[in-house]
Amino acid sequence: MSASLVYLDNNATTQVDPEVVEEMLPFLTSLYGNPSSAYGFGKQVSLAIEKARERVSQLLQCEPTEIIFNSCGTESTNTAIHSALSADPDRQHIVTTRVEHSATVKTCEALAKKGYEITWLGVNANGQVDLEEVEKAVRSDTALVSVMWANNETGTIFPISDLKEIAKKKGVYFHTDAVQAVGKIPVKLGDSGIQYASLSGHKLHCPKGVGALFSSRRTRLAPYLLGGSQENGKRGGTQNVASIVGFGKASELAALQLERNEKQLRVLRDRFESSVMERVERVKINGDTENRLPNTTNLAFEGLDGEALLMLLDDKNICCSAGSACTSGSVNPSHVLKAMGCSDTHARASLRFSVSHFNTEAEIDYAVNVITEAAAKLRKAFK
Ligand SMILES: *Cc1c(COP(=O)(O)O)cnc(C)c1O
Repeated sequence: MSASLVYLDNNATTQVDPEVVEEMLPFLTSLYGNPSSAYGFGKQVSLAIEKARERVSQLLQCEPTEIIFNSCGTESTNTAIHSALSADPDRQHIVTTRVEHSATVKTCEALAKKGYEITWLGVNANGQVDLEEVEKAVRSDTALVSVMWANNETGTIFPISDLKEIAKKKGVYFHTDAVQAVGKIPVKLGDSGIQYASLSGHKLHCPKGVGALFSSRRTRLAPYLLGGSQENGKRGGTQNVASIVGFGKASELAALQLERNEKQLRVLRDRFESSVMERVERVKINGDTENRLPNTTNLAFEGLDGEALLMLLDDKNICCSAGSACTSGSVNPSHVLKAMGCSDTHARASLRFSVSHFNTEAEIDYAVNVITEAAAKLRKAFK
């Protein structure tokens, strides 16, 4: 068993579901027409895109016209923020949090350099925002409130329905990065009062390089990529047909299996988490254990170096993450854990484990054994 891969990093990316691959294959082989072409060979392809749009919209309980396919979750977030800002040039203020994904963080930082004002809301020790603080932060010149649905590092789920109510009451756009939430917990976007939401295929057992932006039919969208009239004029560029078809299939599967998956993820995650905490001393959970994605656990191994532990697990073919995929490899401790008030040492002692329904109990038990041994080895070495 030690030779095969144990992939516990499903918040970084996921295994493509074989059923998704199956559905995609014709569009990588015989059905290569351009979906914008007028003849039947192209029309066949554009119909497949529309079927995918229908399936994604069913998962999100919205209208198909509210789904715009693009290249990734990051593009969705860039598009949503820029669109909200372009609606009214007098509104140059954004409210967001300190624990967002880098897609939001970097976009806002770049805007700040251009003269926009950003309010970075802090979080408490559980990683939660304070609703009163959010309300106070929204001003008459605020263009947008942007808060992620669920955090990729800790799994903390934010009170989206309260947050979007605050934005609505104040007449401000609301965007949510729903990349981690979709497929793991129910996400209803249609008629929700949410203007924009970011989605990504590869966190949902679909290939990398395809995303979607939910844009409410009541809201104007300013295209980010200008070009052809693809996606109803809302996103230029010939579509990534095969991946879009895959996104549709993955959404159909997610919708069908949502309840079962949610339970299964929770069983695997809880088995992992409670076993590690039972067998390894001084382990603490980072984040909000009540409002948390069912697949994620972020654990601090106090007194240990997370990177060193990660390397020992890597030697045994177990994949997990120190911080988010986008920040690991750098020496900086996680901005999410820092925002929660963790010390650098605590943040550096922390690892994220995230399961999918492709994981098995045997894999979990194997990983727990390896972690127990590795932690003991490191503790001895540091004594
Ligand atoms: C992965 C991720 C993204 C980025 O999605 P890409 O498709 O990789 O660009 C954005 N937000 C969150 C919360 C993520 O986990």
